[in-house]
Amino acid sequence: MKKKDQNIAVRQSADDLIIQAPVAISFLKSNSLVIESANSHILELWEKQADIIGRPLAFVLSAPGQLHYVKSVQDVYKSGHIHFGYETPIRLNRNGHNNLFYFDFVYKPVKDSSNNTVGVMVVATEVTKQVVARQLLEEAEERLRLAIEATGIANWDMDLLNNDVIASSRLSEIFGYDADETLTYQQLFGAVHPDDKCVVDMAFEEAIKSSIYLCETRIVWADGSIRWIRTTGKVLYDDHHKPLRMLGTTIDITKRKQEEIMKNDFIAMASHELKTPLTSLKAYTQLLVSKAKKAGDEFFINALEKSENQINKMARLIYGFLDMSKIESGKLQLNTQAFDINELFDEIIADKLLIAPDHVLSFKSGQTIQINADKEKIAQVIGNFISNAVKYSPKGSAITLAVKKLSENLRISVKDEGIGLKVRDQQSVFQRFYRVEDESTRGLSGFGIGLYLSAEIIRLHHGKIAVESEEGKGAEFYFLLPLQTDPN
Ligand code: ADP
Repeated sequence: MKKKDQNIAVRQSADDLIIQAPVAISFLKSNSLVIESANSHILELWEKQADIIGRPLAFVLSAPGQLHYVKSVQDVYKSGHIHFGYETPIRLNRNGHNNLFYFDFVYKPVKDSSNNTVGVMVVATEVTKQVVARQLLEEAEERLRLAIEATGIANWDMDLLNNDVIASSRLSEIFGYDADETLTYQQLFGAVHPDDKCVVDMAFEEAIKSSIYLCETRIVWADGSIRWIRTTGKVLYDDHHKPLRMLGTTIDITKRKQEEIMKNDFIAMASHELKTPLTSLKAYTQLLVSKAKKAGDEFFINALEKSENQINKMARLIYGFLDMSKIESGKLQLNTQAFDINELFDEIIADKLLIAPDHVLSFKSGQTIQINADKEKIAQVIGNFISNAVKYSPKGSAITLAVKKLSENLRISVKDEGIGLKVRDQQSVFQRFYRVEDESTRGLSGFGIGLYLSAEIIRLHHGKIAVESEEGKGAEFYFLLPLQTDPN
């Protein structure tokens, strides 16, 4: 092929490249920036037709808003230096709508073999999608930031390798410092109340294992005053499950805690005051029952036994409230002893007529199983399971008690044929004051503290409490007690 033909072929393929390129391209020649070639994308940007080819850029883009654009290209020609423009907004008519679109621009000088600028290559890439996505993200972040600010929550990011903490200014305020003061890991952990340090350590250990950090603790401000904070966090790991960072939020809960403490103190005081008159009421009623029995007065025997039953119910409730306030102040203690669990069941079953007069209560005594636990409190948990089984299942139905020795634990269960529980309620019933409120429980009274107390008692024994149930098909409440360890 002759040299001239070769040049024509090279030109042709360069033009094809420009025309077919997925980005907007134009080549402008000589210092008057004559449009040598322009593909359909750049014609759309300029809002022109192909008849502009061969005309100078300044002539084609002569509207006042386009002058700065032409000037930038002229500057590139004169200086010989490349120019980049990012996310330039341009209004375009597309599909009958006039909207704003965004483009990244490159104006590249084209040089001859003597390094003289002979033209400028203009390339524009549309970045509208990226810009809009980023703007939406920024808006969402801003909304989140405003929401966080409004709720007084501080957020933070802790590097678990070198303990660096990046936090919002609210964290400094929560710890009693000026908002613009940056706090170190040492300052944050140093502020934890000495009595709560082990709670924080335990929550931290748990977070490394489960990825979730949750802790309510006291902190001491520089002026000696005490505040309560609630911190939640999530641990992020590397590919080898090595903990890298923890992201989280902290909120000041001092007011809520003070109210809780006041409420708790009131419950403790009221229950304590009620205990003494109730004890003497119970003693007198028992005396009257035995007198009525001696006199053989059926009416009095019946009425007084019913009163005694109600007094017992009231006593259980009051002792429950007392235990709850002890748990809240961390004062519920175990009084452990070694005993055979079957003996305990036999004692419970002995009161069968009293605790479940209208149900078929069954328990098969098995091999001797010695455990080390607080007998009275374990009896309280089993008693609570049984009274719930009675309350939430129909008269005449079966309640089955069972003890099973597993490899490391003892499994103690109470199964009924009652209303059962929805899956969503199965975790929550162990929370304080939680009660299932629906058609099936309407008219059944209670405070929602029995299972909470049971869960705390089992937790103190380092055991596990749970329920297996299907709605409408009964429930099996059970707990596991470690066979080896002494809870103390
Ligand atoms: P209370 O029975 O006084 O409300 P509990 O803490 O003992 O408090 O129980 C919490 C809730 O768990 C109850 O309100 C009830 O909805 C549910 N529950 C407990 N035991 C059973 C059971 N055996 N069957 C069905 N629901 C139960």
